[in-house]
Amino acid sequence: ARKFFVGGNFKMNGNIKSIKEIIANINEAKLDSNTEVVIAPPCLYLLLAREHLREGIEVAAQNVFDRPNGAFTGEISTDQLKDTGITWAILGHSERRVILQETDEFVASKTKAAIDGGLGVILCIGESLEQREAGKTIEVVTKQLKAVADKVKDWSKIVIAYEPIWAIGTGKVATTEQAQEVHAAIREWLKKEVSTEASDNTRILYGGSVTEKNSCDLATQPDIDGFLVGGASLKPAFVDIINSNS
Ligand code: 13P
Repeated sequence: ARKFFVGGNFKMNGNIKSIKEIIANINEAKLDSNTEVVIAPPCLYLLLAREHLREGIEVAAQNVFDRPNGAFTGEISTDQLKDTGITWAILGHSERRVILQETDEFVASKTKAAIDGGLGVILCIGESLEQREAGKTIEVVTKQLKAVADKVKDWSKIVIAYEPIWAIGTGKVATTEQAQEVHAAIREWLKKEVSTEASDNTRILYGGSVTEKNSCDLATQPDIDGFLVGGASLKPAFVDIINSNS
């Protein structure tokens, strides 16, 4: 059985005061012990989050570079994250793919470095509205996955987040059927291209306008193993999303 997984991606939001408040709210809540929880504040606040969060909840960076150290201004490495108690990284988010023009190959290279260095990776994939309307959704997401599979053999510490770009921050959540269809196709792809084990064990999260109002429905789907939550992870109701599989 795959352990339900909920990630909170704060993106470039928050400050010391608000992040402390969000963490206090999570610390005080009664959380389903069968759900793994990871929160990803902006990198300036990673240490603050690690220091304040209760044990058992992990912290993720929103990005990590593919070299261990050196002259790479503005970047941080897997070694540095691990040194400070940060155990996960989000990679391949569409905002980085689109706005910062990260390629499938660059995302794959960073995923390899992170996995080799012992981090867990939340690997984000997803299609644009134009690609969906052209019937290219599965082609796009499997191409993004293939770039990673070409470099990474061990998928045991990868969690996939399917985040259709048209659903991110728009309030237009994918229907349960739309999400389940793509999740099932991703699982099928893992079976064919990686291994039966990876297909059976890899958590596939849904992301894109998840709220406490739609999370329980989505969680009923057989191939939806949790969520990557943006806007709603900044709000008290994030704990209801964490508990939506109970
Ligand atoms: P929203 O939940 O704000 O739509 O963002 C989703 C997302 O991009 C999480 O990584």
